[in-house]
Amino acid sequence: MTTLRDLPSVDQLLHHADDLLNRFGRPLTLDALRLTLDEARARIKRDGETASPSPASILASAESHLAAWTTPSLAPVINATGVVLHTNLGRAPLSESTIQAMNAVAANYSNLEFDLGTGKRGSRLIHAESVLQKLLGVESALVVNNNASAVLLVLSALANKKRVVIPRSQLVEIGGGFRVPDVMKQSGAKLVEIGTTNKVRISDYMDALDEPTALVMRAHRSNFKIVGFTEEPELAKIVDVAHKENVIVVDDLGSGALIDTVKYGLTHEPTVQESLAAGVDVVCFSGDKLLGGPQAGIIVGKKELIDRIKKHPLARAVRADKTCLAGITATLMHYLKDEAEREIPVVRMMSLTAKQVRVRAEAWRNVVGQGEVVKSESTVGGGSLPEESMLTFVLSLQVKSPDKFLAKLREANPPVIARTENDKVLLDPRTVLDDESLLRVLKDVLHDYR
Ligand SMILES: *Cc1c(COP(=O)(O)O)cnc(C)c1O
Repeated sequence: MTTLRDLPSVDQLLHHADDLLNRFGRPLTLDALRLTLDEARARIKRDGETASPSPASILASAESHLAAWTTPSLAPVINATGVVLHTNLGRAPLSESTIQAMNAVAANYSNLEFDLGTGKRGSRLIHAESVLQKLLGVESALVVNNNASAVLLVLSALANKKRVVIPRSQLVEIGGGFRVPDVMKQSGAKLVEIGTTNKVRISDYMDALDEPTALVMRAHRSNFKIVGFTEEPELAKIVDVAHKENVIVVDDLGSGALIDTVKYGLTHEPTVQESLAAGVDVVCFSGDKLLGGPQAGIIVGKKELIDRIKKHPLARAVRADKTCLAGITATLMHYLKDEAEREIPVVRMMSLTAKQVRVRAEAWRNVVGQGEVVKSESTVGGGSLPEESMLTFVLSLQVKSPDKFLAKLREANPPVIARTENDKVLLDPRTVLDDESLLRVLKDVLHDYR
């Protein structure tokens, strides 16, 4: 009969734990040893007669606790879903030079808020601002933590306790609980809804502007479409009417396309340049949607307004950190140098032709020795171009219980995220960055799959 006294003490175990102490440090190793001994005691009490675990097996259990505690839960996965901006999978993967720029400022001191010319204090805002001015011809720009905070900041700075006019058809929920009307209320703005769910006319704007108003807001519907009996005035027309009453126009574009998506066989996603050309005073958009950079909110527009936004107390609370500023600047440089399609992963993925994807899917099939290459659809995702898809080719695998197979793919290292359709497992090369890793995992999982 095993008794609790047969168990080794923590001190005894420590004599054999040099490896664990080196790898995990003393406090955590002690924690793991104590926990493992507690578990062993509980088993002995419960089962009575089990043999006392050997020191080696106690150390092995402690090691698995330690490994679990020190493995970050956030880790890379392979996106084989064909959804380019997959919100749940971290949206935009970054370009090489974006990663290098972020690494360099993360690892070193930088001139973040230091003017190298004068040797005095500088502003962190100038770094991205100068590229945005050059790229978009805007007077001023400001980069904050994300686009949700950009919208909150813009409205807080420009419309607190004042009327903000917005069509009912744009009072949308973007996802993750970001509701345009709630954010507007949070900013202290007084929401003035105009039009109906499906229609808004220029006369609705004119009527609303009869009363003193701070701004007219347009919010991109992002993740859904209104079709059928609908109407919305041209942006330039809205700007015209607002400016006649000295009212500011703010456009929350959401995805922030800088390139016309029609080029890739998709419908037209409103671009930042178009909003500016229509005369919008302040435009805000995300850094990590169609733009393809790190998480950020970008605010561009008239100097006098951007200056007010920069001075608002919330600006400090939602400011971008140095790695974000370095990364967003590096990504914007790709647009400036007209190399976005070659360098920015999400733009590259959208620009792939169906034929290019098919060649890869066929190569995959040859490597794994099974499956079929079939036509399918990739989507943009990330609240951009709802209901739109790109023609693609996927490797379609016929396996027993496809959902179980998906689970096996998710358990792999790195995890592979795929989808099923009509009882087949589909893998879309369009969103896969590293074919070699994908194929290694896929071969292993297929090999062991019963
Ligand atoms: C996505 C989106 C946001 C939020 O942007 P984040 O960068 O995710 O914070 C705000 N407005 C619109 C219209 C969007 O599409």
